[in-house]
Amino acid sequence: MVLPFIDSHAHLNLMPETHSSGEVYERARQAGLEALINVGTDLERSRESIRLAARIPNVFATVGLHPGDANLWNTELGSEIERLSTEPKVVGIGETGLDFSYPEPSREAQERSFRGQIKLAFSRDLPLVIHCRDSFDTLFSILESASLPSRPGVLHCFTGDRKAADRALEMGFYLSFSGILTFRNAESLREVARQVPLHRILVETDCPYLSPVPYRGKTNEPAYLPETLSVLSLVRAADPVDLARSIRDNTRTLFALPETV
Ligand SMILES: [Zn+2]
Ligand SMILES: [Zn+2]
Repeated sequence: MVLPFIDSHAHLNLMPETHSSGEVYERARQAGLEALINVGTDLERSRESIRLAARIPNVFATVGLHPGDANLWNTELGSEIERLSTEPKVVGIGETGLDFSYPEPSREAQERSFRGQIKLAFSRDLPLVIHCRDSFDTLFSILESASLPSRPGVLHCFTGDRKAADRALEMGFYLSFSGILTFRNAESLREVARQVPLHRILVETDCPYLSPVPYRGKTNEPAYLPETLSVLSLVRAADPVDLARSIRDNTRTLFALPETV
């Protein structure tokens, strides 16, 4: 059974040399992939995402600065991200957000970069791709006091609890589940995933990271995404094909992908 899917968050440009983008993409097509969002993490990687999107028909790009690189944020860099966001097939801003699991960059630097990119997303009316680790309270208070784009965006690789999920849903965000959902110790995350309204769920690989069971320890790639979909369908007691189609359509809606994709 082939499940149709869109990988809402991938980094084909960060795959090891053994995994050429063309081959990885072809394997994913065989496994049911219809489109893929390649996410930028800094200026150069945002440019790489745009180049990948130009080269591969159903690949789209986002441009932004990862919280891990928030020290690089300044007005000039912001203007360059804004310029890149006008390129063809750019469908979102990010990944941005907050990650307080590491001592550096400072919280202040991360918040500055995040606020700058929220402004950008609002002015360009593009959805935000948000990375959030150990920082939900600060993240939500920033988002709740900001002007958000009409399709606010997605909390990628969501690992928060029910309360965090509710706050994000309240503001109109989508929640994207990764291979973490398949991990043995992820029972509480599966419980959250069981309860999120179907029309707000996305799935992703975040490849080359976070391979789902049974590929843990290997380089992750979009062809493995159906493992996450299968677990999600079990958890929600949903028909796998119906569930996959709904999630694919959610991804199209959030990123305003062309109908033909
Ligand atoms: Zn991330
Ligand atoms: Zn990522």
